Amino acid sequence: MSKFLWLFDPGHGGVIAGKYQTPGKRSPKWGDGFPQLFEGEFNRAIVRRLIEMCQYAGVDYVNIVPEDDDITLRTRVSRANELHDAGHKCIYISIHANAFEDQSVGGFEIWTSKGLTGADLVATTFFKHIKQAFIFDDKIRFREQAYEDGDPDREHDEHKKVFYVLRRTKMPAILTENLFMTNPYECKRYLLTKEGRDLIAEAHFRAIIEMEKG
Ligand SMILES: [Zn+2]
Repeated sequence: MSKFLWLFDPGHGGVIAGKYQTPGKRSPKWGDGFPQLFEGEFNRAIVRRLIEMCQYAGVDYVNIVPEDDDITLRTRVSRANELHDAGHKCIYISIHANAFEDQSVGGFEIWTSKGLTGADLVATTFFKHIKQAFIFDDKIRFREQAYEDGDPDREHDEHKKVFYVLRRTKMPAILTENLFMTNPYECKRYLLTKEGRDLIAEAHFRAIIEMEKG
């Protein structure tokens, strides 16, 4: 048994019979041979890699959303809280890619719910490994953020909704925004490629291993 039960929350819905289940939450249509990215597909690709690595390393995990349906935030939280209430020592990791109207905005963000969950150590550890994984690319920016209720300057629409999982889960919870699907460089180089997805997933996994050993 590992030290924590890792709860993976792939944000939004997946693709069912060729149809993406979530409105919005996608990259622009690039029109230059690169496919459009659907965020929920990317999020699931990262969680799938994390599961493979956790299985290999003997780290306990639960995929909170094994479905391709866009399961509600309320159900995601109740699935997580049931595991917490059953006595498991859980850590909740919600996986997303970011979006913004200005296509020049990019980078990684990790969000926690300030003061509520003791997630600061988790966020710091994940950030350290994500920074290390992308140290070779000086175009990539990093922002560590604590979400605070009623601070509209620091929220955009994506965050207002998905932060529900940070507010309502009973365990330490973080939300990783892995690059911007609206940024052409980040989307085409990392979010759409096997190599980019591997880098992002491996960085998350190294953080998990550090937390397990700490
Ligand atoms: Zn998202």
